Formats: sequence, C-alpha cells, structure tokens
Amino acid sequence: MTQIYDKVALIGLGLIAGSMGLAMKRAGLASQIVGHARSSETRNTALKLGLVDAVCDTAAEAVADADLVVLCVPVGVMGDVAAEIAPALKAGTVVSDVGSVKAKVIDMVGEHIPEGVHFIPAHPIAGTENSGPNAGFTELFDGKWTILTPVGDADTGEVAKLRTYWERLGAKVDVMEPERHDLVLSVTSHVPHLIAYTMVGVADDLERVTDKEVIEFSTGGFRDFTRIAASDPTMWRDVFLNNKEATLDVLGRFTEELFDLQRAIRRGDGEQLFEHFTRTRAIRRGIIEAGHDTAADDFGRAGKKDS
Ligand code: NAP
Repeated sequence: MTQIYDKVALIGLGLIAGSMGLAMKRAGLASQIVGHARSSETRNTALKLGLVDAVCDTAAEAVADADLVVLCVPVGVMGDVAAEIAPALKAGTVVSDVGSVKAKVIDMVGEHIPEGVHFIPAHPIAGTENSGPNAGFTELFDGKWTILTPVGDADTGEVAKLRTYWERLGAKVDVMEPERHDLVLSVTSHVPHLIAYTMVGVADDLERVTDKEVIEFSTGGFRDFTRIAASDPTMWRDVFLNNKEATLDVLGRFTEELFDLQRAIRRGDGEQLFEHFTRTRAIRRGIIEAGHDTAADDFGRAGKKDS
C-alpha cells in the first residue's frame, strides 16, 4: 500500500469528506489526514468516528504543510474557504474540491490560488441523500465515476497523481471540460433533483385533499422521488444557484417535452405516448447494461443514490 500524498487536509467533514477519509485509510493513501469543519460538534464526531487522524479549529491550520487539500464544503462557500486558506498553502500543494458544479467553483476558488499551488477541480459522482459526518462510508466511491476538470496549464504530472488517488479510493476517473461537466450533470442529476423536489411538493399539497392516501399508497417511483427530495437543502440550493445556465437550458427542453406529452394525452394520441415510452425504456436498458444500476425493483440502491 503505497502512499500518494504525505499530509492530506479535508475541509468540510460531511458525507463526502468522511467517505474520503475512510477510503483513504482503507487504501493507505496518506501518512496523515487532518480535517476541519465549521462546528466543533462535527469536528468531534469526525474524530470519534476515525474519519480523520486529527482536526483543527481553523481551515488555515488544517492546510499548513498539506500536500493535498480537498474542499468538501457546499459549493456556495468554496470561494470564502479558498480565500481563508490561501495564505497558509505551501508551494507545490495540490488544491482540489468535490463540488457538484465545476465552472463557477473554478471561478470562485481559482482567483485565490497562489502562485506555485496547483488547483485541480474534481467531482465524485457518488452520494446519498444523507449528510454530515455520520453519513460517510468506506465504499461510497467504489465503481463510481469521478470527473476531473483541470483548467488552463494544469501540471500533467499532478493531474495524473490525483487520478491515481481517486482510482485508489475506488473510483473510475474521467477528465472533462468544466462547462461540459455542468451540462451533463444538469441532465443526469441537477434537473432530476428539481423534478423530484417539485413532484413531492405537489404530492404534499394533494395530501391535504386526499387525506393521507398519497403516503399510504405510494409506489416505488414516488418513494424514489421522496428519497431524492430528502437531499440536503443547502447543497442543492447552491447547485442551482451556481449551475444556472445549464439547468435553465435543460429545464426549458424538459418543459417543452412535458407540454408535448400533455398535448398527446389531451388528444388521446396513444401512438406518440407509446413511441416516447419505448425510446425512454431503451435508455434505462442502456444504464443497466453499463452496470450503473440493477433491474431490481428497489432500483438497486437499497437506500443509496448517486448524485
Ligand atoms: P455535508 O455532508 O452537508 O457536509 C458539508 C460539510 O461542510 C460539513 O462538515 C460542514 O460543517 C462543512 N461546512 C459548511 N460550511 C463551511 C464553512 N464555511 N467552513 C468550513 N466548513 C463548512 O455535504 P456533502 O454531501 O459532503 O457535500 C460536500 C460537497 O460535495 C458539496 O460541494 C457537494 O456539492 C459535493 N457533492 C455532494 C454529493 C452528495 O450526494 N451529497 C455528491 C457529490 C459531490 P458543519 O457540519 O460544521 O456545518
């Protein structure tokens, strides 16, 4: 088990950082893992659970002498945290992040990265609807994609090293342009979350009319919506505020398709409905064949989801 970095600092100690700490320990990737979260309660929990070897009261203390710093905080505070740690970073350090949005994070963090420090953004496409240090688990990244979005003249040696680091955490790694990442993720994750939030909101309104029947007779599909809609409000608010263009673009296309289907239902156009459902069924088969899900009726997730 060869180490990749000597000291790793995780800023934010929730689901993603906690899982990274545990997976790093499993693979022996660092000689020391330190962490920082804003509340002492989270810091103490992370230490007690062994997610990290030590915790610091400030982010600047945590990153001192670190070879790899990973920002694992909500997207909306990435810039503030980067500004806070910048003076404490040593030359040669790699700063990365796990934010669900890339272009905006690159703008917000990039401007604070000092000369001689490498900034290589990343996004593990793995998560659950749970948050906080207690939600972390070792296998979260196993077999899941992590996307690296290096910018400008990123050091190829350091990008390769970070790729190996994520592979040893259990992930498959791909490299993408940040804007491409944001568009792809708006289709596969961000807009689907918004639809789930919307549908559960509609059901909640109807619940008053249907007198508990919505909950009593909820089917697998609706239960899946409620699980997704239970995701962390801070994280998802920040995703939509910071991936505005791509989300609005995909939402526009979505509403056009929805109106098309609405019209087909009103006109009794069974052929259009049948054709549409046949096309979408093929996408589901493709996902199963690619090994990203199973045909099991619990959607193969057993309470876990990708984000
Ligand atoms: P989480 O479980 O809610 O944890 C967030 C952590 O950030 C907490 O430890 C919190 O500390 C800390 N924090 C918040 N504001 C801070 C600040 N200003 N300074 C220092 N620490 C601060 O969140 P998560 O699910 O791990 O998500 C972290 C990042 O990963 C987000 O950018 C998200 O977009 C991305 N991501 C999430 C998923 C997912 O499915 N959850 C998947 C992929 C990527 P306290 O506990 O003390 O408040």
